[in-house]
Amino acid sequence: MNNPGGSVNSNGKIAVVTGASSGIGAAAARALARDGFTVVLGARRIDRIEALADEIGGRAMYLDVTDAASVDRFTATLDEVHVLVNNAGGAKGLAPVSEANLEDWRWMWETNVVGTLRVTKALLPKLEASGDGLIITITSTAALEVYDGGAGYTSAKHAQGVLHRTLRLELIGKPIRLTEICPGMVETEFSLVRFDGDADRADAVYEGLQPMVADDIAELISFTASRPSHVNLDQIVVRPRDQATSRRNIKTG
Ligand code: NAP
Repeated sequence: MNNPGGSVNSNGKIAVVTGASSGIGAAAARALARDGFTVVLGARRIDRIEALADEIGGRAMYLDVTDAASVDRFTATLDEVHVLVNNAGGAKGLAPVSEANLEDWRWMWETNVVGTLRVTKALLPKLEASGDGLIITITSTAALEVYDGGAGYTSAKHAQGVLHRTLRLELIGKPIRLTEICPGMVETEFSLVRFDGDADRADAVYEGLQPMVADDIAELISFTASRPSHVNLDQIVVRPRDQATSRRNIKTG
């Protein structure tokens, strides 16, 4: 624990955020800490999560959701968990199916789908034992729609959504709520990762429209986690005003 005292107005609850080193995960960690949670941050870029943990009075630990041993080490350190935010994920490439890069597909499935499964499965007993657990999974509008060049990502996000929604059915009667948040465009490092560090290509994605920012999603995470325990927000779909579907926005008409 970087700050054993936790946040000043601690609510005595532990929130785990995967992929907390940038974008939505980092914003969610800040928001949950403000709400009084002691936040456990996981990601591969340990320097970033250590700095953020120091800032918010949380705890940082290396986590690679694609590596079973890393997930085991990460989850074994947690005695108690009240909230799990399955956020680690992303996209690689925008190739049509005819030119699909199998390594990119594997990365997307391993990270978004199998990674979410690994962490969720490992933490389920602790979430249940808390007596009031909450799992928030950040899927995407790509979990609901398809778009040209997006099959690797949309298929992974559909599968991640199906995993989450199935668990919602399977956990009925247990004290665990499940919320799926499906965002449209959010300006984070997402496009930089998708286009392998090509900043010009990443910036072009957001030209001519106003995307959401990570804090817009973090506010929804904070709102979800502050509902009374008998209220389950099942699915939240949120897009920029300028984007009606994944295939069509004001830029592309
Ligand atoms: P981002 O800034 O690129 O953040 C992605 C996070 O995932 C990083 O913290 C990264 O940390 C982590 N991550 C990636 N691979 C990982 C692994 N193997 N193990 C652990 N952590 C890993 O992008 P973002 O927009 O905030 O994305 C967060 C989530 O929102 C993703 O699931 C994404 O699919 C989803 N989403 C994004 C958008 C959007 O438009 N931005 C829209 C809908 C849904 P490290 O690299 O340090 O490990």
